[in-house]
Amino acid sequence: MRPFKYTRATTLPSAIKELSGNAQSRILAGGTNLLDLMKEDVERPEALIDITHLPHSAVKSLSQGAAKSGVLLDALGKNSETANHLLIRSQYPMLSQAILAGASAQIRNMATNGGNLLQRTRCPYFYDVAMPCNKRTPGSGCGALEGFNRMHAVFGWSDKCIAVHPSDMAVALAALDAKVLAQNEAGQQRRLTFDEFFRLPGDAPEKDNNLQHGDLITGIELPASNFADHSYYAKVRDRSSYAFALVSVAAGLQLNGKQISDVRVAMGGVAHKPWRALTAEKMLKGKEATEANFKAAAKAEMAAAKPHEYNKFKIELGERAIALALTNALNYGS
Ligand SMILES: Cc1cc2nc3c(=O)[nH]c(=O)nc-3n(C[C@H](O)[C@H](O)[C@H](O)COP(=O)(O)OP(=O)(O)OC[C@H]3O[C@@H](n4cnc5c(N)ncnc54)[C@H](O)[C@@H]3O)c2cc1C
Ligand code: SF4
Repeated sequence: MRPFKYTRATTLPSAIKELSGNAQSRILAGGTNLLDLMKEDVERPEALIDITHLPHSAVKSLSQGAAKSGVLLDALGKNSETANHLLIRSQYPMLSQAILAGASAQIRNMATNGGNLLQRTRCPYFYDVAMPCNKRTPGSGCGALEGFNRMHAVFGWSDKCIAVHPSDMAVALAALDAKVLAQNEAGQQRRLTFDEFFRLPGDAPEKDNNLQHGDLITGIELPASNFADHSYYAKVRDRSSYAFALVSVAAGLQLNGKQISDVRVAMGGVAHKPWRALTAEKMLKGKEATEANFKAAAKAEMAAAKPHEYNKFKIELGERAIALALTNALNYGS
């Protein structure tokens, strides 16, 4: 590991000022991804700004009186605190399930909500500094494009990068229409939809998202949920713990009798960002909640997938995972 300057931030503005003052500085939250990247020589920060000692509250209700109006997740809240919070378990069960499907108990106790969104891809070529990788070293090429691309994207990739976003939590947040709150040195607060926050690789795969250097994530806002009664997070992986998703699906149904009045489907392990399955959602809205309709919607969603040599299996796996998540959401709690 290379030498770096360490600063323990005492206030939010001082952390942002310190971050903005040096393009080679990085925020240190739980450190569960950043420190691994530093050990592998992928990240070489000159300065780390430790924000873990700033005061925070894991989950705050935004309700006023009896009105249901959502919750605010603190960026510094730990993944485990968030997943186990009563409000999250009762109102946003797919989020709780998604977080608990990730990593291990020890890592979730360290990892923060903000850091989870900003964790880097697990593409093995990105981690191996001897290999070409446009995300790590722009212009060097993409080792995965013609390499072993079993874990890689089937939607939204470019010939510059076919990596997937590794977060489980972000998939559920995408389905729930979460917004990311970010603050910059001038004190400006931005509220970004997931579409505005995450990006596809295009010609600049080195950028995972649309934050500017100096932006600090302060929180994640969730609108009131209508999916608490019928939601499910399905994760398919090579082993049942400590493994990233091959394909995952966050599904939520709002039912009027047997009819689907609203539906959310988001996928992980298939794109550079959490992938909203808008084709499937559109097909299901207004239809009856039946297994046949779930399967038809899943097939239609995956019809647009463009796989690579070693990940063609993700098409059938994606179809099955969408249908499974919707079926389990329908039967949730029964
Ligand atoms: C063995 C292992 C298995 C794992 N398995 C899974 C899995 O199955 N599913 C899954 O979803 N995840 C998994 N993870 C990843 C884990 O969830 C992430 O490492 C963790 O969520 C990152 O959070 P952190 O607080 O530790 O981030 P850090 O490592 O501290 O930071 C990550 C990045 O975010 C930046 N950052 C952090 N907070 C902020 C902020 N508030 N504002 C601006 N920038 C910030 C940092 O500068 C850094 O660039 C696994 C990790 C390991 C080590
Ligand atoms: S897929 Fe992206 S992260 Fe992986 S080698 Fe190619 S450019 Fe790098």
